Amino acid sequence: PAAAPVTVIGLGPMGAAMAEALLAEGHEVTVWNRTPARAEPLVAKGARLAESVAAALGANELVILSLTDYDAMDALLKPVAGALAGRTVVNLSSDTPERTREGARWVTAAGAEFLAGGVTTPPSGIGDPENTYTFYSGPRDAFDRRRSTLEVLTRADYQGEDPGRAALMYQIGMTMFWTSMLSYWQAIALADAHGLKAADVLSHARETFASLDMFTSFYAERVDADHHEGDVDRLSMGTASVEHVLHTMRDAGVDPTLPQAVVDLFRRGMAAGHGNDSFSSLLGLVKAAK
Ligand code: NDP
Repeated sequence: PAAAPVTVIGLGPMGAAMAEALLAEGHEVTVWNRTPARAEPLVAKGARLAESVAAALGANELVILSLTDYDAMDALLKPVAGALAGRTVVNLSSDTPERTREGARWVTAAGAEFLAGGVTTPPSGIGDPENTYTFYSGPRDAFDRRRSTLEVLTRADYQGEDPGRAALMYQIGMTMFWTSMLSYWQAIALADAHGLKAADVLSHARETFASLDMFTSFYAERVDADHHEGDVDRLSMGTASVEHVLHTMRDAGVDPTLPQAVVDLFRRGMAAGHGNDSFSSLLGLVKAAK
């Protein structure tokens, strides 16, 4: 079948990469962006620039949104909700699961099909479906009909009908991503305080992150079985270790906010009597904060 024509609204780094990947695969692409200048490089590659959001919605049945968040979708689409009937809106902007469900509800009530997406790759991975993936959720038939077009961008991992599910999977990844990257800045700040560059510690940093792969698999089985026995690690050992980290930061004059938060959780685990259990017993403390 001929490549389906697509509208892309939102031309930040992500939306621009999406429009470009679709053009490269022979799709007719109509674009719109609040700041029109960002459309120029795409128009030079063959995209059509719509005059208004309503015109962008009118141009094609399939409409991809790549905006900062769901407030931006509301700001753009609510004033032209009458133009949504019969469209398939695929929102690849990130937000919370609750906010995503709320957006899905009103767009669906306006007569459109709604698919939510959580893209797990930076712009450089868009157009490389062999190596990248996006979580989708929403009506199965809408997803099945649009899958081949969406897979121009990345591989599509369908997560079921609940529109909040794709956002949840995205947030699970981001929970790990932002904290882990902050731990990386922490390590580089410590290295810097001792006259080392990021490049000097790069191979050690990469090995350390790579080693987490083994830990995640090992502990997944145990925590699902509620098994927190201290046979391979004890919280008392972990507490001494994270305190060494904190003191190393203090000695170096580096901001201790992140390691301090880690130490606080370990100490709460000790106070709760988990010294002889695995540090996975901290999961109970994290779960309890409802
Ligand atoms: P940006 O925030 O850089 O771009 C967002 C787009 O939203 C721009 O086109 C901007 O328009 C538009 N926008 C924001 N607010 C409004 C508004 N109130 N009204 C109209 N337009 C608005 O985001 P990215 O392109 O980097 O990312 C898009 C989405 O993809 C985000 O939800 C992000 O979380 C997610 N994502 C991003 C990744 C990345 O590496 N960049 C990786 C994975 C997911 P204007 O040009 O006029 O400012």
